[in-house]
Amino acid sequence: MIGFYAAFRGLGNDDGSKQEVSYCGMGWLMEKEALLYEKLPGDRVKCHVCQWECVINPGKLGVCRMRRNRDGKLYLLNYAEVSSVAADHIEKKPLFHFFPASYAFSLGTWGCNFHCRDCQNWEIACEDIPPGSQQLSPERAVELAQRNGCAGIAWTYNEPTVWFEYTLDSARLAKEKGLYTAYVTNGYITPEALDAIGPYLDAWRVDIKGFSDDFYRRLARVSGWKSILDMAVRAREKWDMHVEVVTNIVPSMNDAPKQLGDLATWIKGYLGELTPWHVTRFYPAYNLAHLPATSVSSLEMAYRTGKEKGLKFVYLGNVPGHEYENTVCYSCGRMIVHRVGYNTEVLGLDGSKCKFCGAELNFRTKVK
Ligand code: SF4
Repeated sequence: MIGFYAAFRGLGNDDGSKQEVSYCGMGWLMEKEALLYEKLPGDRVKCHVCQWECVINPGKLGVCRMRRNRDGKLYLLNYAEVSSVAADHIEKKPLFHFFPASYAFSLGTWGCNFHCRDCQNWEIACEDIPPGSQQLSPERAVELAQRNGCAGIAWTYNEPTVWFEYTLDSARLAKEKGLYTAYVTNGYITPEALDAIGPYLDAWRVDIKGFSDDFYRRLARVSGWKSILDMAVRAREKWDMHVEVVTNIVPSMNDAPKQLGDLATWIKGYLGELTPWHVTRFYPAYNLAHLPATSVSSLEMAYRTGKEKGLKFVYLGNVPGHEYENTVCYSCGRMIVHRVGYNTEVLGLDGSKCKFCGAELNFRTKVK
């Protein structure tokens, strides 16, 4: 992992005249008028970036705490406010069938529109913007990605839609420079926002955290979770994004074979049998620190369930060195990509296909 804080420290607010700097009680922050909102009577506003579709009174914040109604206009508080920057292996996202063995310039901000009880990144996702937060303009982010040998940019670590306007500006620039672009997302975006950024996004790495109303309500206090499924289909079908799905297996919460089977069946039916499904190991964290880590046998059960339901590519996550990290051709049985943690060796790929037998393996190796 390469830290870039020193590289952009002191850049300041370099987004030109579009930016407006104001004091928010937490420090000097960049505020930018939001996209995709409507004005309502009484100086209220309605945000259309994510599926909460918050109606916000004057002076108040949305659920994500990163959008504020100021005098009847909606402002984004965290435009270019960066909490984390690194050149990550793309496999860390995890994206296994997307530019394998490349580096992704990875950016996160503050805040989130979900407040999941198992959040591994709660220090950035559940906090307000701290004093001294650093800024990184879209232009500078693209420049740093190129200078550091990254093949693309990923918005990750926390939910990308909470700084949607920044990711949109950055994605446009990245595409002009021939870089790939990837969202690592909870998928709770609106169709309007997805359609705005769709032309500039190559990959949709979406969490489908479980497959029941009860689970989403208990984990994230979200009731309309099925829209996440619709947006994943839309990302793939309307915008030709490469889609991979992650399910973090939380002991006693979403590890029942029936729920996992229903999820795998849905992936096969709506995203296709070649869609990679990552079943990852939960580690005790945040509000679920009392639960044990997921056992490897439970992950292997999830793997078998996915295969029995017809998925060709199921992977174990957070178990470095396990054989189910590898990509094996479902047709000829040869090793295609060998992985140990983030060490990746591409052995049998010809574009998107198996170089040994020609089977289609759903790898994306070109930007759209
Ligand atoms: S992006 Fe934030 S303000 Fe907008 S609808 Fe989602 S949670 Fe609400």
